[in-house]
Amino acid sequence: MTKIGLEIHSQLTKLESKLFCPCKANYREFEPNTNICPICMGLPGSLPRLNQKAVEKATMIAMELNCTTPEKIAFFRKNYFYPDLPKNFQITQLNIYGDTSVGGKGIVMVGEKKIRITRIQLEEDPGRLIYEGNSEKNLVTLVDYNRAGTPLVEIVTEPDFENPKEVREFLNILSSLLENLGVSDPSLEGAMRADANVSIEGGNKVEIKNIGSFHDLEKAVHFEITRQQSLHSRDIPIIQETRHWDDKRKITISSRSKEEDLDYRYFLEGDIPWIRIGNKVKEKLKSEMPESISSKKQRYVSKYNIPVQVADVLSSDKFYSDLFEEAHTKENAKEVANIITTDLMGLVDTREKRESSKLTSSHLKDIADSIQSGKIARNSAKNALNEIVKNGKKLSDIISELDLGNVSDELELSKIIESVISEEPQAVEQAKSNPQTINYLVGKVMQKTKGKADPKLTLDLLKNKIL
Ligand SMILES: [Zn+2]
Repeated sequence: MTKIGLEIHSQLTKLESKLFCPCKANYREFEPNTNICPICMGLPGSLPRLNQKAVEKATMIAMELNCTTPEKIAFFRKNYFYPDLPKNFQITQLNIYGDTSVGGKGIVMVGEKKIRITRIQLEEDPGRLIYEGNSEKNLVTLVDYNRAGTPLVEIVTEPDFENPKEVREFLNILSSLLENLGVSDPSLEGAMRADANVSIEGGNKVEIKNIGSFHDLEKAVHFEITRQQSLHSRDIPIIQETRHWDDKRKITISSRSKEEDLDYRYFLEGDIPWIRIGNKVKEKLKSEMPESISSKKQRYVSKYNIPVQVADVLSSDKFYSDLFEEAHTKENAKEVANIITTDLMGLVDTREKRESSKLTSSHLKDIADSIQSGKIARNSAKNALNEIVKNGKKLSDIISELDLGNVSDELELSKIIESVISEEPQAVEQAKSNPQTINYLVGKVMQKTKGKADPKLTLDLLKNKIL
């Protein structure tokens, strides 16, 4: 049986400052090496000061993933030398004196399947190495320490996944949970990274390091399973090793063995005391956590009668569920959900498109209300939505500019209906004996008005004229 376990690193991108100093957690906006201070540069005499919010958010993640949370947490030094690590050690967590990481054992359900969480730890991100030049000769490595000290949670799972599809489903769920908690924006470059371990029936475990995005994680796992199966089928033994993900060539490559034989010489970080997280604090944190995705979904179904599948899609994406929450009323909820899931999701399907979209929740409310009151047809609403996303104009202006409004003028509509009646004598006779077939005539009126006849008024007028 194939076994896959994951180690997921998620930055807490929504925090103001780094894990142990006041530098900005959002390092992405800065020129290289300008978001730094003596603490995150590890200068002699500097002392770390733990970011309380980071501990709180990491604890919330642990609670959300149904993990145990310890009474006390501790930090450790993981010693190693690498150019992106100015202190020559990383401050992280370790369950060596009992469970002292922010999260202990937990469970995440992926459909019917249980994925066990081993632990969750809070740690600092190292800096970034940037390689320039393309030949061995001219290759230059630049170091940018802006990222050094950014708060990171590491989520470790048991090897409970059996195929890349389960991995992808889990990552989707995890991204949604983190985004819904308001702790991380998974779509930011580098916000989510991962290591994976993969073994197939009868083979040794292989670690894959350095996977830079969730998208690549599924690919890396898939590549590694195929590679191992191919070796196995030719009776070549699969050696236990660490491999690196090459994101340009989309393959895993063996790391030189000396990189593996690291002895990190972990010891307690003496500059940070053990932190007690008592039940009172945990209860307070729990009360501050936003409504969970599953409870949102239930509420959408039971309160607004939104179909389960639509509620599922809507609740699992914070961007859309926030829009829904702001735009809906008790009367238009189903319509708002419908517009978001059938039209809007196709229009703003990338981060860039979402960011440049001019649509607000009040636009959305206007559109839903106008459909319900018969001012605008669904099809025209879709066109209007497309315009609003681009230019943010008022719905009423777009309706008049593009002539999208329904034909609701009784006199005008009467004329069109008269002409349909004279063109369709047979259908009129049929409708007289079987009123259900009147819909055929409604359809003809819609055809003539290019779908813009007010449907309710059309039906009423037709009934008056022939029944
Ligand atoms: Zn700093």
